[in-house]
Amino acid sequence: MSTTSSAYNPYDNVLKIIDNAAAILGYCKSDVEVLKHPERDLKVSVPVRMDDGTVKVFEGYRVQHSTVRGPAKGGVRFHPAVNNDEVKALAAWMTFKCAVVNIPYGGGKGGIICDPSTLSEKELRTITRRYTAAISPLIGPDQDIPAPDVGSNPTVMGWMMDTYSMLKGHCVPGVVTGKPIEVGGALGRGEATGRGVMFTVKNILAKLDMKVEDTPVAIQGMGNVGGVSAKLLYEEGFKVVAVSDVSGAIYNENGLNIPAITAYLAESRKHLLSGYEEEGITRISNEDLLELNVPLLIPAALENQINKDNADRIKAKVIVEAANGPVAAEADEILDAKGVIVVPDILANAGGVVVSYFEWVQNIQSVSWTEPEVNAKLKNIMDNSFEAVWNIAKENNVSLRIGAYLIAIDRVVRAQSARGIWP
Ligand code: NAD
Repeated sequence: MSTTSSAYNPYDNVLKIIDNAAAILGYCKSDVEVLKHPERDLKVSVPVRMDDGTVKVFEGYRVQHSTVRGPAKGGVRFHPAVNNDEVKALAAWMTFKCAVVNIPYGGGKGGIICDPSTLSEKELRTITRRYTAAISPLIGPDQDIPAPDVGSNPTVMGWMMDTYSMLKGHCVPGVVTGKPIEVGGALGRGEATGRGVMFTVKNILAKLDMKVEDTPVAIQGMGNVGGVSAKLLYEEGFKVVAVSDVSGAIYNENGLNIPAITAYLAESRKHLLSGYEEEGITRISNEDLLELNVPLLIPAALENQINKDNADRIKAKVIVEAANGPVAAEADEILDAKGVIVVPDILANAGGVVVSYFEWVQNIQSVSWTEPEVNAKLKNIMDNSFEAVWNIAKENNVSLRIGAYLIAIDRVVRAQSARGIWP
């Protein structure tokens, strides 16, 4: 399964939703035209001498969708299916995500076409350093601040921070977030996206009068976001009946032993669920996981997982989008007609960028906050943002996704209008 099929273009989804939200807000074409074009779109070649002595050239991107509300902000994806339109869409989603939770950032994203699972640590480090050097004219604490995404992690962010600092001749911790704690990473950042997902799940359940004990959950993806979501929901008393990774899914209607699964996956970066053993589990496919008869489904892997081909087979009552773009626009319409409630990515997975913002604030002020402080500030922002999205969706009788975009697009358009079009 790839992140994008040739027929699916996530950037088309972005353009469509901008038009939908703008129409409801009463904005004209000119008001939102700027939002349809990324400010900068850089393509780079990353030559690397591999361990076997050959030279390979990897293709990479860094897109800044908007810097109207602040520096661009967004992760770097290491995945074989990365492409320019995907990075453009991910960058735009970052603009809207930062606007929904009202943090002073625009949106950016990066990606390198590679498969980290086939690379040695030295090869991964060399790709990271050379890519960072290639995009270094665009990034910086005041310009554009990368962070981890699919296939990257705090170690990779440490290498990016070091490379940028070496090029500048002094230590620049604020150039990336999601770094190791030792070099200025924020306490709580590693779990922040999953923690935000957990807060979001609890918020939507409260609105729908659903009880934790009656809400078994299936989670697609057991990486940073899915793995932490599973762990925290399990700790909150949820029965997690299915989880998956790129190797497939495991299912137990009585609930999985999430601490054991998490420990197994953490033991080695080569560990996959296909090698995990637990009494009572059934092995199913990622596709089957999405179609399980569970009230709550959390796609936490890649985009376009729920699309026009499988949307009518989805049985969940609530979908919380922990991944970016897991429900395609056409699927949204089908799910809406079936009464399925989708909590959109730009709200549900915003916990990561919120704590990245906290990390950046601490870096540029040379201060440090405790983990309970970070988690409490995160909860406050996630709860308030959820409430605002819920209320505007009810007022306008629209989906939570459209509600979130009404808030986001209004904030970006107002900022654009306050600044004017230069010159
Ligand atoms: P990750 O690399 O840590 O984990 C990705 C997970 O998805 C792994 O379990 C992997 O095996 C699985 N996976 C990969 N390909 C798959 C496939 N074809 N089918 C099923 N599963 C597959 O990545 P992550 O950081 O957890 O990111 C997951 C999603 O969350 C992405 O959409 C990312 O953009 C989004 N996101 C991440 C963050 C963050 O802080 N890391 C923040 C917001 C949103």
